[in-house]
Formats: sequence, C-alpha cells, structure tokens
Amino acid sequence: MSSKPDASRPRAADTKKVHIADTQMTRQNWYKHVNWLNVTFIIGVPISGCIQAFFVPLQLKTAIWAVIYYFFTGLGITAGYHRLWAHCSYSATLPMRIWLALVGGGAVEGSIRWWARDHRAHHRYTDTDKDPYSVRKGLLYSHLGWMVMKQNPKRIGRTDITDLNEDPVVVWQHRNYIKVVVTMGLIVPMLVAGLGWGDWYGGFVYAGILRIFFVQQATFCVNSLAHWLGDQPFDDRNSPRDHIITALVTLGEGYHNFHHEFPSDYRNAIEWHQYDPTKWTIWTCKQLGLAYDLKQFRSNEIEKGRVQQLQKKIDQKRAKLDWGTPLDQLPVMEWDDYVEQAKNGRGLISIAGVVHDVTDFIKDHPGGKAMIKSGLGKDATAMFNGGVYYHSNGAHNLLSTMRVGVIRGGGEVEIWKRAQKENSEYVRDETGQRIIRAGQQVTKMPEPIPTADAA
Ligand SMILES: [Zn+2]
Ligand SMILES: [Zn+2]
Repeated sequence: MSSKPDASRPRAADTKKVHIADTQMTRQNWYKHVNWLNVTFIIGVPISGCIQAFFVPLQLKTAIWAVIYYFFTGLGITAGYHRLWAHCSYSATLPMRIWLALVGGGAVEGSIRWWARDHRAHHRYTDTDKDPYSVRKGLLYSHLGWMVMKQNPKRIGRTDITDLNEDPVVVWQHRNYIKVVVTMGLIVPMLVAGLGWGDWYGGFVYAGILRIFFVQQATFCVNSLAHWLGDQPFDDRNSPRDHIITALVTLGEGYHNFHHEFPSDYRNAIEWHQYDPTKWTIWTCKQLGLAYDLKQFRSNEIEKGRVQQLQKKIDQKRAKLDWGTPLDQLPVMEWDDYVEQAKNGRGLISIAGVVHDVTDFIKDHPGGKAMIKSGLGKDATAMFNGGVYYHSNGAHNLLSTMRVGVIRGGGEVEIWKRAQKENSEYVRDETGQRIIRAGQQVTKMPEPIPTADAA
C-alpha cells in the first residue's frame, strides 16, 4: 500500500533540469531534497496535534468516536484506495464508491488517482528503482522517507490508470482533493463531536489530527513492515512478507506475501482465523448489495504456489546433505580387481554393482562385525536386501556415503545396467542435484531377495 498526503509533481518546464533527487545531498543543499509540503502534513501537523492534546482533555465519547472514525478512514484506504481502485479486486456501486472516496480522503494520504498509480508501480516494479517505496532503500525510506524526501517522478515505473480516469468518482475526488481532505479529515470529525456532545476542540484534535496521524502511520506500515517482517509462504524472490502484527496494525493488509502473489484477490487473509477486517467489510458490503464481482483465486492456484515454495526450501535443505558421490562420477572397477583388493584387507563390499568401502564402519555395524565381514569381496546385493537382513532406508542412505566405485563385467552387469537406468530416471531439483526419495537408493531392491540359506 502506498500513501501520500500530497504530491508535488514538477511541471513540464522543470524536467529539463537535473532533478534534485538525482543530485548528491550536501550540507548546503539538503533542504532542497526535502519535500516540505509532505513534511508538514506527515510530521508537522501530528506534532502540533500532540502539543494541543496537552491542553485539551480527552473525553470518553470523543475517544470512542476517534477510534470509530479511525476504522472508517482506514477502511477507506484499504477497502477503497487499495483493493477497489488500485487492484480492482471487486466492483462497488456508486454510493459505496462515493463513501470510500470520502472516508479515504479523510485519511489524508493523497488522492485515489495518485495513490493507486504509485501502488500499481509498487506491484509492477517491487524492490527495484522504479518501485516508489522500495524497501531495498531501507525500512525508514519505505515507511516515510519516500514521502518526506523529494523523488524524481520520472523514475517511478509507468502504469496504466485509464480505468481510474474513467471513474467519475475518482476524477471528482482528484479535482476536489483539498476540499475533501479538509472536510473529511478535520471538519467532519470535529462536527460530530461538537454537535454530538459539545467537544469541538477535542473532536478536532483527537478524531481529527491525531487520528489522521495514526491512520497514516498504520497504512505506511504496509510499505515498510509488510516488506520486512514475517514469512514468505508463496514466493521468497521478492521482499513481501506475511505477519499477524502487520495485519493487526493495517486492518488486515499484513498477509502481504499472499497479496503480492495474488493482488487481484479481494482477500489478504485466506484462512478464516486470520485477521482481515477489510475482507470482512467487503464481504458484508456484498451481502448488503453494495459490492459485487468479488475476485478470488482458485485454491488450486494458491496451493501450487505454496507447494513450490516449500519445494524450494526442501531443495535448499537437501543440497546441504551428503548423498555420496554420484554414480556417474565413480571410477569403474573390474570385478577381479574388486575381489583382489578385498582379499588384501580393504573393507570393500559390492551391493547392486556399487562398491562401498566400509573399512571404518565394520566395528559400528549394528548387525555385528561377522555379518558385514562375510560380505566383503562378494556380491552382497541379496544379503543386504533380505537374504540376511532387509536393510532400512536409513541403512541404504548411509551406505551411499561410502561409495568408492562401480563394477564392470561379470555377473554384476545386469544389476549395474538397471542401476544406470534408474540413475537416468532420477528427478533433479532446480540446482541440478539428484532427488533420492526414501526407498529409492540404487542399492535398494524393490522386493526382499530370499536366499536358500536365509533364516
Ligand atoms: Zn497492493
Ligand atoms: Zn507491497
């Protein structure tokens, strides 16, 4: 989400010069880098509100009204500016659009047109230089810096807002923005408290100025906190993240990893127990006949993203493990050479055409030294696969780390050929690593092999 109290865009004549944002900040010119209009709105006005609060006692009714109006204006941004206009995730009737344009204006974050344009650029160019509030430039920059420091508007990525220009409510709000801000941001909250229970000044300070400050800071968190704190269950190539704290602060906009993957979904939270009052509001408006065409991605598509991200995490874990030397990188040994080396005291054992050096493992063999020694220098495929003991998947995994060669010739050819075939059928992860699933080690025979002398 983006927000801006006002945007001072340079006129055409200014664009020939080098924009101040593209020059080095120095001790002499720093004040030229500052967007003073926005500083006044975002920092100056709240400070004046805090000072005035010392002289105006807070009445309970005014406090309750300020909280209610906080939700109205906050939802104007989340349900209106963000999900309706920036993302077209549902359609709204004219009365609802007017209402959202009014209360959204009361949040003092710029007109719908400005806001949605920047926000579309944010989604299209996330984390790049064309992202107007890229978190790559720092947490504070994505929260406030992008508004209080001048930005070269030419650098912000281009987006299409023809649909917004065709919405008379958006156009009207843009043209009358200052009037809307003053009326909805300050006069209305003051009028309600004044006419309602005589607290004019309290309504102005608490439901007006300080409420604006809290709504602004809350929604700014979507640009900062939601790109910094939490998990990335759908895709971790960009910065958006999911976190309950961000959701609590932002009226449900905290499932931001989901939102960047499925931006035209009217929901941010997809689980019933997750906090997304913006979604609940839109849904309720639908029941009241005010909203329609609520867009939702199929859960099949959502789950695909989730599984792919899980797979990626698993691949990363798998790549850190020792799976033994890949078969195609092992030296080829003659059968006679294998037997000879084993006779000369090297602890070699051949299973399924793969030679393993178990010298250091003999003493640790759970089945005893004698058992393992009886297989040295022989074809122990059957012994290992049920003839003596049908070894576990864990045993096959461990065995693979002791590989030192593969057998050529003799009676082992058939098994080796099969191993080769299985080898070519291995699935690989995105880094090219073989994926060896449980029970699929090359040394493992699909069925236990009985032998005549098996117990
Ligand atoms: Zn968005
Ligand atoms: Zn974002």
